[in-house]
Amino acid sequence: MSVWDDVVGQPQAVSVLRAAAEAARGGSGASAGTGMTHAWLITGPPGSGRSVAARAFAAALACTDPDDIGCGRCHGCTTTLGGTHADLQVIATERVSFKIEDMRPIVSDAQQAPSQGRWRVMLMEDADRMVERTSNVLLKAIEEPPPRTVWLLCAPSPQDLIPTIRSRCRTVSLRVPDAEDVAELLVRRDGIDPRIALLAARAAQSHVGVARRLATDPEARERRRSILTVPSRIRGVGDAVLAAADLVELAQAEGRAATEERDAAERAELLRTLGAEGETRLPPAVRSQVKRLEDNQKSRATRAQRDVLDRAMVDLLSLYRDVLVLQLRADVPLVNGDLEREVRTLAADSTAEQTVRRMDAVATARTRLGANVAPLLAVEAMMVELRPQATAARL
Ligand SMILES: [Zn+2]
Repeated sequence: MSVWDDVVGQPQAVSVLRAAAEAARGGSGASAGTGMTHAWLITGPPGSGRSVAARAFAAALACTDPDDIGCGRCHGCTTTLGGTHADLQVIATERVSFKIEDMRPIVSDAQQAPSQGRWRVMLMEDADRMVERTSNVLLKAIEEPPPRTVWLLCAPSPQDLIPTIRSRCRTVSLRVPDAEDVAELLVRRDGIDPRIALLAARAAQSHVGVARRLATDPEARERRRSILTVPSRIRGVGDAVLAAADLVELAQAEGRAATEERDAAERAELLRTLGAEGETRLPPAVRSQVKRLEDNQKSRATRAQRDVLDRAMVDLLSLYRDVLVLQLRADVPLVNGDLEREVRTLAADSTAEQTVRRMDAVATARTRLGANVAPLLAVEAMMVELRPQATAARL
């Protein structure tokens, strides 16, 4: 057993991080350049396990076992993996981006010496969700780090960070793990049936969290299925527009469901703290605080909705990828083995060139959603491109 067990399919990244943890233990500190450094950038596509890898590294740094660094059993390892170690600070946001006023106290915390172990670890998930002003606050902290502080930044790619931060970090890139590796994790860790685990891992395109949800939550499987059968139901522009409205509504509903309960609890808690519980009209002094909370909650719901839509786009891309696999007679397994009938029909009714155009349309919608285009507009334009077209187009 070790802290690296859940970092699936990443032997290269693990060996770099493991060596760094050993160098850090060796007493050479961060300055010797022997593998340990003060700022790390862990990159990889969503679901590749960036934060799992970062946490495993943090645990190895906190490990107190004299011989087996990253043992996974000692107090340092278990509390870090569990997120309760006093020297570990996890920085994440549920909003579309970090706020500059959230970043300032974090930067000042980073100046503290570790209280229990050898390192204070600042683990920042979604480090790509920073506007430049906020990035500059972080840059200051990374430029002059105290001797026992280490920053672990997680982002999809190095380009998601400003060059001045990037150049101060050592980058560790994760790859998309093999579906087999993800399935093996689901079987070992979550006790899932091996056949279901492999189907789910393929369908999730090796996104560990999504694979787990698909393997354990029948509703998630149903939602995915209804998204993937949309293309075979579209007959014309009218259907396309309706399908777009359905998809955006579904995403909104999911975004709300994911946040509603917490929103109400937070509001009640805030009113209690401010002594305004049960008041029918909020006193002016309280109003601005409530307004601020509501703004944060709205921003959180927006992000949840955007994540759901993005996932739907990734699923649609996988569907057309399968269509293309059949059209090109490539000898690789389908991502959506459970929808083989639909995939075959789409493959028979279109040309490879049309499939590629449709994939482009989905990719464009993804980019536009990422750039804050109104979701309905972006999704409608995409759906219209997905409708059946005359197959007379020449390759
Ligand atoms: Zn340990």
